Amino acid sequence: MRILLLGPPGAGKGTQAARLAASARIAHVATGDMFRQAVAAGSDLGARVRDVMERGALVPDDLTVAVVRQRLGAGDCGPGFVLDGFPRTLPQAEALDGLLTEMERPLDAAIALEVPEAVVLRRLAGRRVCPRCGATYHVDTDPPGEGGVCRCCGEVVAQRGDDQEETQRRRLEVYQRDTAPLLGYYAAQGRLVAVGGDGPVDVVAGAVLRAALGRQGR
Ligand code: ADP
Ligand code: AMP
Repeated sequence: MRILLLGPPGAGKGTQAARLAASARIAHVATGDMFRQAVAAGSDLGARVRDVMERGALVPDDLTVAVVRQRLGAGDCGPGFVLDGFPRTLPQAEALDGLLTEMERPLDAAIALEVPEAVVLRRLAGRRVCPRCGATYHVDTDPPGEGGVCRCCGEVVAQRGDDQEETQRRRLEVYQRDTAPLLGYYAAQGRLVAVGGDGPVDVVAGAVLRAALGRQGR
């Protein structure tokens, strides 16, 4: 199964990609997580992306595509993958098409999570993440454990630097300008499936899985 998830920051892509990866036994490929890990590790890649991410801007296409190209070649992507946060621009989408054609592994579907903007803003404001294992929480709908610690690994959870109000606004503008046009791009390919993302996590997860299975191999 080869799927990508589209939607604005806070739509629930990471939450749903983790669920789909677990239920379909495919790899979860999240460029944002990969970049955050690189920053935390202090690698060369981390040094190149840190300032861009802090500003809520996009990492250059060539660098992002190179990271994804390498990741999709890893063994755990053999059974399939769900892309979360990639592609984010038209050139990235075109590069992905080229890459998947080269690999003879076409995309099954681009699933768009539809969530009203007011809900997205509430989700971003309350998002907390574990700096060690990347688990995601929400202060109201899915709070961390006692004392604000991660229920997976016990680390104290924190707000993402780019979830501050000013940066959030910037990231939503970047989404509208650079990423929203991909909805038309995948619709024109006949690969776009819209799923309502404004419901309980389990309900959305069921709808995403049905959409993915319905498109598999078509
Ligand atoms: P994205 O990866 O699209 O930026 P996330 O998956 O990180 O979004 O979700 C953003 C926030 O919303 C997180 O705090 C997450 O716990 C919460 N969230 C995700 N899906 C739902 C949902 N269906 N209902 C309520 N909260 C959700
Ligand atoms: P995310 O975790 O998906 O919200 O991504 C966090 C940040 O990482 C984004 O705001 C960008 O700065 C960067 N990023 C993640 N994915 C991409 C991408 N496909 N293209 C460019 N920048 C990206």
